[in-house]
Amino acid sequence: MERIYMDNAATTRVKPEVLEAMLPFYGDVYGNPSTIYSFGREAKAALERARQQVATAIGADKDEIYFTSCGTESDNWAIKGTAFAHAAKGNHIITSAIEHHAVLHTCQWLEKHGFTVTYLPVDEFGFVRPQDVEAAMTDKTILVTVMFANNEIGTIEPVEEIARIAHAHGALFHTDAVQAVGAVPIDVHKMGFDMLSLSGHKLYAPKGVGALYIKKGVRVDINQQGGAQERGKRGGTENMAQIVGLGKAIAMATEDVEGHAKKLAKLRDRLIDGILATIPDVKLNGHRTQRLPNNVNVSIRYIEGEAMLLRLDLAGIAASSGSACTSGSLDPSHVLLAIGLPHEVAHGSLRLTLGDFNTEQDVDTVLEKLPGIVEKLRAMSPLFNQSEGGVTLV
Ligand SMILES: *Cc1c(COP(=O)(O)O)cnc(C)c1O
Repeated sequence: MERIYMDNAATTRVKPEVLEAMLPFYGDVYGNPSTIYSFGREAKAALERARQQVATAIGADKDEIYFTSCGTESDNWAIKGTAFAHAAKGNHIITSAIEHHAVLHTCQWLEKHGFTVTYLPVDEFGFVRPQDVEAAMTDKTILVTVMFANNEIGTIEPVEEIARIAHAHGALFHTDAVQAVGAVPIDVHKMGFDMLSLSGHKLYAPKGVGALYIKKGVRVDINQQGGAQERGKRGGTENMAQIVGLGKAIAMATEDVEGHAKKLAKLRDRLIDGILATIPDVKLNGHRTQRLPNNVNVSIRYIEGEAMLLRLDLAGIAASSGSACTSGSLDPSHVLLAIGLPHEVAHGSLRLTLGDFNTEQDVDTVLEKLPGIVEKLRAMSPLFNQSEGGVTLV
């Protein structure tokens, strides 16, 4: 059976061209970029080429890009590094309730170390309201961190406006753009960001490499003490192959970001329309248009998300859910709760995230198989049988 991968928000497959660009750095090109002989100079040139590729992709200057080990590290660095560097000025941070755990847990950790954090609520679509940001600002606010686009429901946040509000009050603005880079056009200078996090494995580079953009002149603490790598801000010999892979992948992903987004959005809309048309009692989560071009998230009433994932897996389809029973937690996704879904509705949610390897045929196969799976699960569901639409089994 041919398998269909529709969990590209969790991770993406490395593109063949990316792997090809990386391979020499596991072979002949093994020099340490900090050395001065030719082996080292070769590596250094590749390192700086990759840095330029990342910079170009997001409208930054080359010396504003720092390589990290992942998106999580970039978020940790941006938030903790800003907090401690500006602690003399204030101790207040503003973020949203729907951030990735890389941001939320970092903020919670800072609360144990003398900082106060405001977690802004979102509306039913998952939008942070700029007026809430404005109202939360105090003279102690040093940082506002709001994600560019949400990884579960795909909502694209009004980050430019939020950045303007932060700056008007003398605070810095960071955005976790891990899901957005390569999906929507981004220009950090025009958009007024002070920091931006990105990650390789969400854009067809391998897992375990990321980057942080830090605007020139913005003071952020050193991330990792050590050698002079990354302009002295993150010691440790560079992960050359991974960094080269990130450079290649981000260049490919941002070559024609709008054309690429249009293609994915077409598949996305075919999937959304198909699900809404063939399955009763389904609600689309997130905003219909102000969403990532590859994100579909629906709540399917009267069923349990994890049961659905297992059935989909048996049918060869990889997807994700806002339910997390098997992962040791009974609480559904904090994002789905934050947009106001009741627990039982959040538990029945399904996230399908498209990628460059998906075809129209993949979408049609999912649309063919999903309604039958839902029907079978509902037939077994006590919730469904109590509802009006249910058939009472004797
Ligand atoms: C995946 C993801 C991260 C974490 O990135 P890693 O490279 O896996 O550490 C952070 N934020 C968002 C929005 C993500 O989707």
